[in-house]
Amino acid sequence: MPADPQRVLAHLDALRGIAGDGNGAQSVAWTPKWQEVRAWFLTLLDGLPVEHHMDAAGNRWVTLPGASPRALILGSHLDCVPNGGWLDGRLGVLAGLETMRALAEEHGGVPPVTVRLVDWADEEGARFGRSLFGSSAFAGTATIEADRKRRDQEGVTLEKVLAECGVSVEKIGEAAVERKNAAAYLELHIEQGPVLERMGLALAAVTGTKGVERHAITFHGQEAHSGSTPMGARRDALAAAAKLALGIRPIALRHEDAVCTVGSVKTFPGIVTAVVGRCECTLDQRDLDAGVLAEMYSAARAASERFAAEEGCTVEWTRIWSIEPIPFHPELIALCEEAVREVTGTAHRMPSGPLHDAAEVARAGIPTVMMFVQSLQGISHNKIEDSRREHLEQAVTAFHRLAQKTIHWIQTNS
Ligand SMILES: [Zn+2]
Repeated sequence: MPADPQRVLAHLDALRGIAGDGNGAQSVAWTPKWQEVRAWFLTLLDGLPVEHHMDAAGNRWVTLPGASPRALILGSHLDCVPNGGWLDGRLGVLAGLETMRALAEEHGGVPPVTVRLVDWADEEGARFGRSLFGSSAFAGTATIEADRKRRDQEGVTLEKVLAECGVSVEKIGEAAVERKNAAAYLELHIEQGPVLERMGLALAAVTGTKGVERHAITFHGQEAHSGSTPMGARRDALAAAAKLALGIRPIALRHEDAVCTVGSVKTFPGIVTAVVGRCECTLDQRDLDAGVLAEMYSAARAASERFAAEEGCTVEWTRIWSIEPIPFHPELIALCEEAVREVTGTAHRMPSGPLHDAAEVARAGIPTVMMFVQSLQGISHNKIEDSRREHLEQAVTAFHRLAQKTIHWIQTNS
C-alpha cells in the first residue's frame, strides 16, 4: 500500500486554516495555538493501531508496535516561528504519519520492527531563544541550569510556561528514556535554501549538518572629528571591519559548501560627525568538514589582524558559540539517495546549513539521515515559504520508500 501524498497535502492545507492567518503560520511552541495544533494532530491517529504519549520534555511520541522492539523513528516539529511558513517542520510530521499509516497497512498492522513518530517540542526556540529544546533533552545535551533561567520578551519564565504545558523543567532529562531500542532516525524537511531550485532538482539526501563557528569581533581604532582629521591620519575601526566583511568571501569560496557571514555591525560613537573609534561585528562560519571549519576560522582571524594593522587598529575575538559538524550515517545516506533516484530519476546529496532535530538525534549515536525537498526561492521562516505540489508529492513517496529500505536495513543489521 503506497503512502498517499494527497492526504499529506490535505492535512497541510487544513493546518493552514487551524494555525495560520494572513501573516503566515502561527504555532509557536508552548502557546495555546501550538497546543491546539497538537490536539488536532492526535485526531489524525483515529483508527491507527498506535499508542501515544508525551515524554518528560514535551515531545509527542506515537508508536506502532512491530514484531521487534527495535525502532525506526520518523520525526520533525509542529511548532513554527511567528509568521512562519506552512511546510517547515509540519511536512516532516505529516509525511511521517502517512508513512506510518502505509507501513501499518502493508504489514497487517504489525511491521517487522517498531515504527515511532515524534513531534519534537520547540524546535525553533522562537519564544525563549533555545532551539532544538525537545530533541536535545532526548539526546542528553540539554542544560537545565540555563533553561531554568530563560524568559520570553514579556519576562515570563520558560519554567512557568513548561509547567502550563505539563512539563517540569527539572525532569526534561528523563526524555532520554525514549532512546531505548532506537535503531534509526529519518526526517523529511524543506531545504529552506535555493540550492535544489537552482539545480532543477526536487529532492536530495542530506549528508549532515554543518558545524558552526560564531564569534564577536571588535576592532579598536581612534574616535576623531570627521572634519578636522585628514584621511591619512585616521584609525578607522569601521574601515577594518568593512575589509573583513569582504575578505571572508574568498576564504569561504575556497571550499565548495562553506559559508561565512558578517551579520551584524555596530559602530561607536556611531554619529555622522565622528570617525569610528570602535566597531563590533559578528562572524558566522559553517562547513560540514571540521578541518575546513578550523582552517576558515584561522584564515579569518589572520585576515582581521592584517586589516586592523592596515588601518592602524587592533582587533580582539571572542567565541560566542560553536558546534561541531554532525555527519549523518553513510549507509542511510546511500539508502536515501537510492529512494530519491527511484522517485525523481536523479540522485543528489548535500549538507544542511541550518541545524535540525536530526542533528541532536545523530549526536546521540543513532544512525540518522534527512531528506530535503526543494524550496521555492529558497525562502523559509516566512509566509511566502513554498514548494511545488508535485515535489511535495514526490517527497512523500520517496520518504515512504526510504522508511521501507531502512526497516530492511535494521533487520539485516541486528
Ligand atoms: Zn524546521
